[in-house]
Amino acid sequence: MQIRAKPILFLLDILFPARCLFCRKRLPYDAQTFFCPACSHRIAGSRPREIPIPAGSCSYLLPYAANVRRAILAYKFHNKPQYAEALGPLLVPLIQASGQVDCLTWAPVSTLRLLRRGYDQSRLLAEAAGRMLDIPVRPLLRKHRHTRKQSRTPRNLRGENVHGAYSLAGNAMPEGLRIALIDDIVTTGSTLSECARVLIEAGARAVYCMALAH
Ligand SMILES: [Zn+2]
Repeated sequence: MQIRAKPILFLLDILFPARCLFCRKRLPYDAQTFFCPACSHRIAGSRPREIPIPAGSCSYLLPYAANVRRAILAYKFHNKPQYAEALGPLLVPLIQASGQVDCLTWAPVSTLRLLRRGYDQSRLLAEAAGRMLDIPVRPLLRKHRHTRKQSRTPRNLRGENVHGAYSLAGNAMPEGLRIALIDDIVTTGSTLSECARVLIEAGARAVYCMALAH
């Protein structure tokens, strides 16, 4: 099987070469990674950082610029749900830095956005990270009001744009839980803060906000 499969992989590599998710450098056809050695090295050297947000603070791993920005934009807007397998594990050091958490959850998209996009990008990130850490991922929130994209809303209006847009999901029971709340990008932190507020008001013991990039 092995002998027959390799020429096929070699042909596939010529037709559809695997590329580093960040810098697009070609990867060997049998690469077991999504990133080239240089980008892997950079990721391994990245340490969680924090920014202040209305709900307190938010940790993130990477600066939202250049190749990271391009990869996240492709993930969100160009139908690349498979990128979650590469990007989700980058949340692991952030989750581990928050200490003991009981579950992961995410800042959800609205039903309309989900229908248009076909997937909820932050959910897939949370699920990929949860699998690596063996921590359950729970759908605790829902976005009951469709809002204008935060990226297209002036910074000073982003809090207002998402205020009251999130509520507890049906059957969600966050009472007493320490929750890692995940989003893909954090800018002003309005979305994460609004989601955290809902969880805290519903009795969550602690909510740790985190995003891939800022
Ligand atoms: Zn690279």
